[in-house]
Amino acid sequence: MSINKAVDWGGVTPVYVTKQAPCMTNCPAGTDVRLFVKLSSEKKFGDAYKTIYQSNPFPSTCGRVCPHFCQQNCNRTELDESLNIGAIERFLGDYCLKNTIKPHEIKFSEKIAVIGSGPAGLTAALRLREGGYRTTVYEAFSRAGGMMRVGIPGFRLPQDILDEEINMIVKQGVEIVLNRKVSIKEIEKGYSVIIVATGSHIGIRMNIPNENLALEGIKFLHDFKINNNRQNINKGDRVAVIGGGNTAIDVARSILRLGGEPTIYYRRTRSEMPAIPHEIEEARVEGVKIKYLAAPVNIEKDESGSLDVWMIKMKLGKPDETGRRRPVPIKGSEKPIKVDKIITAIGQKYDDFVFSGKEVRARQGKIDVSNSVPVFCCGDMAGGGTVTEGVGSGNEVAREVLAFLSGKPIIKKNKNEDIVSPEDINYVYYLQTYSNRNPIKKIADLYNDFSEVVQGLSEEKVVDEARRCLHCGDCYKCGNCFSRCPEATIYVDEEKCLRIDYDHCKSCAICFQECPCSAIKLKLDDVVNE
Ligand SMILES: Cc1cc2nc3c(=O)[nH]c(=O)nc-3n(C[C@H](O)[C@H](O)[C@H](O)COP(=O)(O)OP(=O)(O)OC[C@H]3O[C@@H](n4cnc5c(N)ncnc54)[C@H](O)[C@@H]3O)c2cc1C
Ligand code: SF4
Ligand code: SF4
Ligand code: SF4
Repeated sequence: MSINKAVDWGGVTPVYVTKQAPCMTNCPAGTDVRLFVKLSSEKKFGDAYKTIYQSNPFPSTCGRVCPHFCQQNCNRTELDESLNIGAIERFLGDYCLKNTIKPHEIKFSEKIAVIGSGPAGLTAALRLREGGYRTTVYEAFSRAGGMMRVGIPGFRLPQDILDEEINMIVKQGVEIVLNRKVSIKEIEKGYSVIIVATGSHIGIRMNIPNENLALEGIKFLHDFKINNNRQNINKGDRVAVIGGGNTAIDVARSILRLGGEPTIYYRRTRSEMPAIPHEIEEARVEGVKIKYLAAPVNIEKDESGSLDVWMIKMKLGKPDETGRRRPVPIKGSEKPIKVDKIITAIGQKYDDFVFSGKEVRARQGKIDVSNSVPVFCCGDMAGGGTVTEGVGSGNEVAREVLAFLSGKPIIKKNKNEDIVSPEDINYVYYLQTYSNRNPIKKIADLYNDFSEVVQGLSEEKVVDEARRCLHCGDCYKCGNCFSRCPEATIYVDEEKCLRIDYDHCKSCAICFQECPCSAIKLKLDDVVNE
């Protein structure tokens, strides 16, 4: 502990601190983004990968498909463009895909079952196996991965990348049983805890006449990805895709590659569309047409077999419970549109098979559905809606189960509320640079081309990108405070750490003002705990 003897002069005491950066607090998986970016800038790729893996076993996948929540509030945006964190994460994931890895030791006799092998279930299973428990994952499909396998198309997430990330989890001792659609009742006798992570795989119905003439988007993607069933889409087929989420976009982009001509019809406008914004843009660039403020009211089939989908025009009314403006039909505006196929993708709900058909309010953590075994829930069915949120939810449920089994309180991550915002950054010390953007593969003819569209960055570009980081809230030893202090009271101690000699500090706060990245804060008292 030190006392700032001059606090009465300036009224403040400068202290070195490490604050949270917005990229870290925004990542739903809880990844220490600033640290893996820093390690990447030093070419310590193995350590950077380990940093991510502690909170996210799917860096290659998330580097590709995550909406990059971390980038949305990156403080670099105020200067030029946010860091391309997704590209760095993707590079690290791919770089370490074939790492050798051993099974974690089993320390406890209790066995845990996880139902569903999506990102939430697999992450939960891995964390519990790391914690010393034998974990078995049951999966209804013939391949593991959940929506990463049966929803997200291969031109966005190559299947061999997903295979490797799942293999890595298996190598650490998680057992996966495929082709087993199970209910809690069926397996409850063999386990001490069951985690339900079955996602949302049942397409929601539109409830319009002749709806059976339409295909269901989520089923279309499942069948195509698992069984290579092209569902009779022929070259030149006009396909109406109804909806505005990720499923609608991925269905439309898949149709393009099957030779069809897709048009998405969405009942609100672009700003309310729930699909990931850059996916909408990529779809548009590829040639997917999107018509806004339109909703189907009826389907009719003529003698030639072609379909008329009757669309009604909508306008936006007052916001609904989600905060988005409610679409209101404009009476008398119905018109038929001739199409060859209609695919609906207006949302999904969970399959109640796991609860033996019972209606259950699924939510994160322990739920009340069985008398004989504790049941926990996580992933899409408990909220969220992205892979990274699934991973974060899997981490959380694992903490909840570990606490339950050990009888100890849940270890919550310490949420330091001191998050560095643009006002805290001294931008004059940073030069403007361009972000290294992912190259996009130019494809002359999309027909039958399911190869990956967005390419990764080279090692050189990844390092260059990582060096753009402003180090928000974390001293990067630029030396400004040391060289600008008029009293020369700042020194480097034997551990090579910067220290302030409070016997001679005059509380002028110049060090604070000249720190580029907000790694010094001013206290209003004179006591410093060192
Ligand atoms: C078309 C599409 C595109 C998407 N694109 C993106 C994207 O670009 N980026 C992004 O971040 N997110 C995207 N998402 C969302 C993301 O995939 C999901 O949020 C995420 O996969 C949810 O993870 P989960 O583990 O909760 O469930 P899921 O991934 O849905 O996995 C649940 C698993 O449980 C299995 N299951 C269900 N019932 C049973 C049972 N009774 N017994 C055994 N197994 C069962 C299912 O077969 C499935 O494999 C997309 C989703 C879709 C549908
Ligand atoms: S998982 Fe998403 S939000 Fe988290 S660091 Fe990666 S890209 Fe960013
Ligand atoms: S500049 Fe670096 S530390 Fe700051 S928010 Fe962006 S990635 Fe995070
Ligand atoms: S001015 Fe530079 S050396 Fe001093 S605390 Fe800030 S980043 Fe670290």
